[in-house]
Amino acid sequence: MDTPPAISIKNLVKRYAPAGNAPAKLALDGVSFDVPQGQIFGLLGPNGAGKSTLINILAGLVMKTGGSAEIWGFDIDADSRNAKRAIGIVPQEVVFDPFFTPFEVLENQAGLYGVPKAARRSLELLGQVHLADKANAYARTLSGGMKRRLLIAKALVHMPPVIVLDEPTAGVDVELRRQLWELVGELNAGGVTVVLTTHYLEEAEQLCDRIAIINHGQLIANKPTRELVEMAREKVVVVTLDKPIGECPSHPAFHKCEKTGDQVIEITYDKDRSNAGEVLSLIQGMGLGIVDVTTREADLEDVFVALTSRAAA
Ligand code: ADP
Ligand code: MG
Repeated sequence: MDTPPAISIKNLVKRYAPAGNAPAKLALDGVSFDVPQGQIFGLLGPNGAGKSTLINILAGLVMKTGGSAEIWGFDIDADSRNAKRAIGIVPQEVVFDPFFTPFEVLENQAGLYGVPKAARRSLELLGQVHLADKANAYARTLSGGMKRRLLIAKALVHMPPVIVLDEPTAGVDVELRRQLWELVGELNAGGVTVVLTTHYLEEAEQLCDRIAIINHGQLIANKPTRELVEMAREKVVVVTLDKPIGECPSHPAFHKCEKTGDQVIEITYDKDRSNAGEVLSLIQGMGLGIVDVTTREADLEDVFVALTSRAAA
């Protein structure tokens, strides 16, 4: 039997009305996808793609223009109470009342969700995000990293099966990023379905089981991470020649040849059909002398660029 999805989004549309100097904006243009239970799911896209709009619709903070969404089987319109209880949202912006302690922040949030005192887990949650020793410190004395971790604990007070992190690592340093990745992994290992938005390809590639890519409000890919990376079939060999050349050599085996210097050419080929050795002997066969060679594997970035430029064409 198939496990029902943690989140199911159908034909979601958001059109922002014009306001002040801002023109009307179609931020989501009919987006549909499911987030499987138990995964770390990455919603990847450049700034302005529509990621936060989508998350904020799920959070009940933005009114959608069309389409529908279910969280843990609960429709966000027809069953908004249960839908809200099934999800914890970690916003991108870090905002706290500076006069509350982390413990109080969690107790207040639990109160908002109607979690009875006996069922609250504020100290346990603080432990989970490695803030146990800061339970009674003022929020304003916490470092940026601690605040982000506190926000994650805050999203968990009602024990939602799904947690969504909107750009958890935008603008954070390497060390904090590592900490947050670790925490996301721990949460997921504990059974929580995690959705995170990011514009960092490396982050999505390292962390996520599955990746959906949106660009200009449209879904352009939705695949297991490995398959998406597999799409990067192209390889590049960078060749330094023994003398300057005028034109790039061409051959049916070369997808592309670019001159990147007087004596340097970059040849792109399909790694399933050819290999670097063949490319080099073709070049030598054209009477060109080779001084140096490096190869480059296409990565998720190349896939992303290929997909987004295809969508734009
Ligand atoms: P992302 O999170 O992927 O960076 P957003 O969802 O924040 O993208 O924004 C998508 C598009 O919608 C952008 O062009 C943005 O300028 C526009 N937008 C976002 N919020 C509003 C708003 N409140 N009013 C008008 N336009 C908005
Ligand atoms: Mg955003």
